[in-house]
Amino acid sequence: MPHRNLSFEAVVLRCRESPGGDRIVTFLAANSGLVEAFVFGGPKSRLRSLAAPYHTGTAWIYLDPVKDLRKLSDFDARETYPTLRENLRKIWAASYFAETVLRTDAAGGESREAFDLLRSGLSALDAGGEADVDYVCLQYGWRLLGLMGLRPDSETCGQCGASFPEGRRAAFSRIQETFLCDQCARAGDSGNSVDDLTLSGGALRYLAASEALPFRDALRVRPSGEDLPILKALVFHLVRSAAEGELRTLARGELL
Ligand SMILES: [Zn+2]
Repeated sequence: MPHRNLSFEAVVLRCRESPGGDRIVTFLAANSGLVEAFVFGGPKSRLRSLAAPYHTGTAWIYLDPVKDLRKLSDFDARETYPTLRENLRKIWAASYFAETVLRTDAAGGESREAFDLLRSGLSALDAGGEADVDYVCLQYGWRLLGLMGLRPDSETCGQCGASFPEGRRAAFSRIQETFLCDQCARAGDSGNSVDDLTLSGGALRYLAASEALPFRDALRVRPSGEDLPILKALVFHLVRSAAEGELRTLARGELL
């Protein structure tokens, strides 16, 4: 097999050092999901600084089938999201986004959609202020769940199928991973008991209304400040389930 060169649109998710001291970069490629490549050159090399976390652009990869090696030969880093290196909450949020992509293998193989979602999330973080971080994280998670087919229906009871009356609260069952109407929540065993994840009518309406909008427009729809903590708890819980375990970026608790 001859040597090959590949190029693709990509976001840098992670940089780490190999045991031999070389840098290994993990990309989310729009057309092929997660891709790892070596970046050779010293700590001050131009390519190392271009291939830094969250930078987005075209990556050129040299594929050596004999050595089974992928080497980054160039990266144009057209978008660098500069404020993601300056604000701690933005840094935490961006690393949470990257971890979700790594842990779900690009939203279960939906690499193009995962790429677009990640770029929307990073752009919104970069353009917004620190006070916007919670809302960007909420929308990012809720949309990731939608991509993976793991978003619970926020308008009907997952057990009896009844529509929730306008403005009525609903409990989320961690066992069934669905929202339940009052009747089903009361009738359930202790596993279904109304616990800490009961959403107000306003919070349910926010989820339903925002999911139909483009990311940028959804950020203009805001839940009430009272509903924000429970919405975050719900979406983070669901994202952990989608990733099949705790996320390092959520375990630290900085985004809660
Ligand atoms: Zn019901």
